[in-house]
Amino acid sequence: MTRLDDEIPPRKSTRRLFHVAPIVVITNLIAYSQGRISVAVSVIHQDEAPFTTTGLRGDRGRRSNATDLRHDAREQNSTGVHSAPTFMKPSPYLWEYESIVFPHTGHKTVLVTGAAGFIGSHTAFALLERGDEVIVVDEMNDYYDVNVKEGNLQLLRKKANEMASITGGMAEDLLTIYKGDVNNATLMEAIFEKHSLKWICHLAARAGVRPSIQDPLLYIRANVQGTTSILELAKEYNVTNVVIASSSSVYGESESTYFSEAEHTDEPVSPYATTKRAGELLSYTYHRLFNLPITNLRFFTVYGPRGRPDMAPYKFVSRIARGDVIEQYGDGTTSRDYTYIEDIVNGVIRAIDRPYPYQVFNLGKGSGTKLSEFISLVEKYVGKKAIIQVMPAQPGDVPFTNADVSKAMRLLGYSSSVQMEEGIMRTVKWFNETYL
Ligand code: NAD
Repeated sequence: MTRLDDEIPPRKSTRRLFHVAPIVVITNLIAYSQGRISVAVSVIHQDEAPFTTTGLRGDRGRRSNATDLRHDAREQNSTGVHSAPTFMKPSPYLWEYESIVFPHTGHKTVLVTGAAGFIGSHTAFALLERGDEVIVVDEMNDYYDVNVKEGNLQLLRKKANEMASITGGMAEDLLTIYKGDVNNATLMEAIFEKHSLKWICHLAARAGVRPSIQDPLLYIRANVQGTTSILELAKEYNVTNVVIASSSSVYGESESTYFSEAEHTDEPVSPYATTKRAGELLSYTYHRLFNLPITNLRFFTVYGPRGRPDMAPYKFVSRIARGDVIEQYGDGTTSRDYTYIEDIVNGVIRAIDRPYPYQVFNLGKGSGTKLSEFISLVEKYVGKKAIIQVMPAQPGDVPFTNADVSKAMRLLGYSSSVQMEEGIMRTVKWFNETYL
């Protein structure tokens, strides 16, 4: 008789890799010492060529010690020198196109969808600041206070005026704001025609894990249909580059020490995560079918000034500062790779400037912080003790995230520069100046 347990496949855990990887490394060393140097040489040659004989390249560049063994084993797999276990096999497409694309440096007109939101408004601001023209499309939904979004748009108008006065131009030539849905084909086609758009940064989405469990169809429309609408326009207008926001949530409950782009992402644990993974898959399909240059960016928990009011970092700062109770989900040991907004914007703009044929990049800080530690830092900079109500862990929330950012470092020149303590200090300063 078959036990139920027998039918459940073992969990795909990269921790098992730490048992496998040393064997791979040792095998290599033995081969080397026995004079079978040709194996090592052929690996090196394949790495240097733009593509290996199979058309794939291994992961390269700086990375943490903790990920070395994992990556080494994967490289062996991609070069065919050793056969790695099946759970190691990366999706081939993530390994293509590893040649560096140099940045386009000229003036651009960039469509930023979702630019009334948190990451979008910071991205649009930075583009204006460096002299680009920005076209905003945002439907101004009420997922959180619309006044916050209006305030973000106001900041963009102010920045456009400031830039126009420096350059002697007109603010209207630097910033155009459309309030509408990216799924509105008539509106979007008119915008593409009018502004001859070639550079797209698609950040508009319904964000938030827990509400996606309550209303998955809303998330499918905004995120899956919304991304498809943008890809259709990109195809129709033959654009130069499309950058699309994805999320660390695609890694689900990965047990890897560092989440790498090459790992398996087919077990999302919320409808939100599923819509983000679907956006990546659609991106790849459009790239393959229509040769569109598309980059998906997996953001890791972004925080900072003008942060999303529904997210824990903002809630903790605001509630501790006001002496309100904070809800801590779980025992405080869950850990997140919290990434300061300035670092994320830096990565987004680097991706906009580099039209990779198709790529997926993690954008994170590259280290995790425990929830309890996060709360302590907020207490330190707010100067008050938190009143904590411990709540059960929520379905859809993942216990741990930690980005391997070596690929973004190598191909985008990305690195995070704002450490946790500095980021929290700046966020608290912004909150105090804005609300207290
Ligand atoms: P946000 O909610 O502040 O901004 C999203 C904006 O998109 C909002 O202003 C909203 O009105 C707009 N929008 C939503 N649906 C739209 C539609 N159909 N048409 C036009 N506009 C629409 O969220 P954010 O935190 O700035 O996130 C930006 C992107 O980054 C999203 O794609 C999100 O999934 C992704 N992301 C964010 C984080 C994070 O930590 N903030 C982490 C991972 C991924």
